[in-house]
Amino acid sequence: MPMVTLAELMAKAEEGKYAVGAFNCNNMEIVQAIIMAAEAEKAPVIIQASQGAIKYAGLDYIVALARLAGDKASVPVALHLDHGTSFEQCVQCISSGFTSVMIDGSKHALEDNIALTNRVLSVARAVGVSVEAELGKIGGTEDDIHVDEKDALFTDPEEARYFVEKTGVDALAVAIGTAHGQYKGRPELDFERLSQIEKLVDVPLVLHGSSGVPDEDIRRAIEIGVRKVNIDTNLREAFTEGVRDVINAKPNEIDPRKILGPAKERMSEVIREKIRLFGSSNQA
Ligand SMILES: [Zn+2]
Repeated sequence: MPMVTLAELMAKAEEGKYAVGAFNCNNMEIVQAIIMAAEAEKAPVIIQASQGAIKYAGLDYIVALARLAGDKASVPVALHLDHGTSFEQCVQCISSGFTSVMIDGSKHALEDNIALTNRVLSVARAVGVSVEAELGKIGGTEDDIHVDEKDALFTDPEEARYFVEKTGVDALAVAIGTAHGQYKGRPELDFERLSQIEKLVDVPLVLHGSSGVPDEDIRRAIEIGVRKVNIDTNLREAFTEGVRDVINAKPNEIDPRKILGPAKERMSEVIREKIRLFGSSNQA
């Protein structure tokens, strides 16, 4: 089916009180793993590309792979830019075929973040593309973007209300204690803060850095109002474990298909588990 926007997926998720999984892709195998899992679960899904993915594969390759996969899929698929860093990059992605972009202005002061987000919105709205923004600073490392633990900043609920009022974004990423990358201990999520934000803000909320967050915490976040959950690290782990297992078991294997194939299968299994956890199975 034709690809859909984030806004369309979020509206249905809000109705059904579930979250849509947003999975990061870097190459063909990952795109296929995401689509295989979504089709097996009959789930809507978001394929997203980060700065690192665009640098690694090239924007044109990412778009070609994801659009082909999305248009052929029997489930609704959105192609989303993860942590867009500038107005120019968002416009580039919009014109290349993304159905949704994130503009991450969280490193800027509030009013500057609002101005930047509105600039992206003015272009995106004209062509029917969705926009996610971020308020507060999510810690950890996502490809090129690193936020020190001491600089991570939880989202202020009142500011979130003001931000959404001034922008009208389609989804808002909030900082409530999750971080990008692998966790050292158990993350402490601030559910009280999430509830306050949810009460004051009427757009779907997004949880970043969700790999390694215990299942019960993910469920609770979705109960409160999270409608998009980003997963990258768990996919990397599954893929590299798959590669490592084959190479350890068959050191003389030289066929890349026999190494990457099982890694793709393993990654797809992890994506299916996440989709079930998010409650988006059979929602396509
Ligand atoms: Zn993120």
